[in-house]
Formats: sequence, C-alpha cells, structure tokens
Amino acid sequence: MKLLEIVTLTALYGAATAARTGDDRDLKADVWAKTLNKRQTTWSPPSNLVTPLQEVWDHVSTTYNNGDLLGFKNYGYDILMASNGTLNFCVRWDSDASVTEADRTAIESSLKTNVRKWTDQLTGFMGWPFDQVPVSVVGWAVKDKTQLQGSVSGIDVHTTADSAGIPECDPACGRFFHQDNDYSGCAGGVARHYDMSLWLTAGMEGGAGGDWGQRVGSEYFLSALDSPHIWLHEFGHTLALDDFYDWTPTGITNFIMNAGSSTTITDFDIWMMRDFWRHIASRFNLRKLKTRAVGKFD
Ligand SMILES: [Zn+2]
Repeated sequence: MKLLEIVTLTALYGAATAARTGDDRDLKADVWAKTLNKRQTTWSPPSNLVTPLQEVWDHVSTTYNNGDLLGFKNYGYDILMASNGTLNFCVRWDSDASVTEADRTAIESSLKTNVRKWTDQLTGFMGWPFDQVPVSVVGWAVKDKTQLQGSVSGIDVHTTADSAGIPECDPACGRFFHQDNDYSGCAGGVARHYDMSLWLTAGMEGGAGGDWGQRVGSEYFLSALDSPHIWLHEFGHTLALDDFYDWTPTGITNFIMNAGSSTTITDFDIWMMRDFWRHIASRFNLRKLKTRAVGKFD
C-alpha cells in the first residue's frame, strides 16, 4: 500500500486502526518535502502565466482608483495586517428565516476552511508574515433575536441595521467603518471587533465582494458550505482581485475570478493574488509583524 493510501485510511478509519502504530516513516522530513516545496517563496510564476499576469496588472493598475491602485488603503492585505493575521467575521442574516445553532457552526467552519484556500497560498511567499489565518465568527446581525435558535454563547447578537433597514452588525465594531482600528465605541472593544461581514441574503443568486466583506445568497451558502464558489470569487475581490466580464488575459479562460468559468481557485487566481501582494508588501512593516505573528525573527 502506498503512503498516501495509508494516510487516507488512517484518517477515515482512525478509530478502527488505533491499535496499529503509525508508520514511523511519517517522521521523516523528506516524505513531506514534495508537498512543502509547492509553497512559493519567490516571484516565479509558470512561464505560460507570465504574460497574462502582466496584462492583468497593467489593466488594474491603470484602470482603478484614478490610476493610483495602491492609493487605496483597505484591501484585504491591509485588513489582515491590521488584525495581525486573524479574521473576525460578523454575519448579516438578511433573511426572515430562523437559523439553527448547527447551521451557524457550519457557516463558521466553512469560513475557516475556505479563507484558507486563498491565504494558505501566501504562506512563505515574499515576506507574507503569517503561517495561517485563524478565522472566527464573532457576531450575528438579525432582525429579531428569536431567529437565532439554540445557544448564542460566544457570539455578539446585533439588531442594528443599515440605512436600508437590513441587519448590519454594529458599525462601531466594524473595520470598514474604523480603518484607524479605533474600536473604543464597540461594546466589546477591539476583542469583539469584526474585520469583515459575511452578508447572507435570502433568495440572492449572485454575489458581491469588497473591503467590507462578501455577500451571497443565504440558501446558496448553506447548500455549498464545502466549497462555495461564488463566495470564493467574492473573497477574491476582498483580496483586490478584479472581474473579467469584459476581457480575458491571453491564453487563460477558466479561473474563479472569471465568473462562471471555474468552481475552484486556480493557479492563475493564486498568482494574481501573489502579484498583488508583491506590489503592496512594501507598505507594511513586515519585520515587526513577523515578530508579533510568530514571536521571533527568522
Ligand atoms: Zn466579481
């Protein structure tokens, strides 16, 4: 039996095989080296992606923010640096339906898993200071508290609303509203602030995303928790990536940021994210951040 099969079976049947000692070859670094080597530390995109990546950068850097793309200061990278590599979400429950405790747990679990599909691809890359990005849901905004079934311990329940009357977690606690990171007006202070919203709207079939968070259908998100491809695309916008409704880069047609062409994040999506980080990294004091993130210089 090959190693991969053993690992898979152990994961699936861990209890049944508990009596068997694990293969001690697991302990050897070279067994895992192939996986670890997939981490990119330098700007070295595959040759077929070089030209299309340059086309994308040329396009976005001349099209947005009046040609001053990096003049905008609240990209996902800014948010992550300000929060020391953690992400607190607040869920805007834009629905009349009730939501069970199990569904709330599943939504948080989905965010934990799916944020990593992007951010793990920055680990080790060109000074990115975080080994992982821990995700929490710190609050829920609802029209009526009784919509939240079961225990609400561990979350802040907000009944505040935006100017259109849609449930919105207290702006006093939100990064979008306090880009100076002053959460003194937030009831729970900085510990209970949220970095972005997951806005779940009943009946919505598309999505939207930006520095404020991501918006998708509530039924859709609950039906696609393992891999919510619309949300993955919208989180790409939070990470400053563009849409491709009007053009596509040379030779590249299927990727998550080209809506409807891919249900998974592709190499091209990942290299676009890395390209953005490559251009924005000098904005941050990475040496200081690294100290805070892992407690040491390296
Ligand atoms: Zn889009």
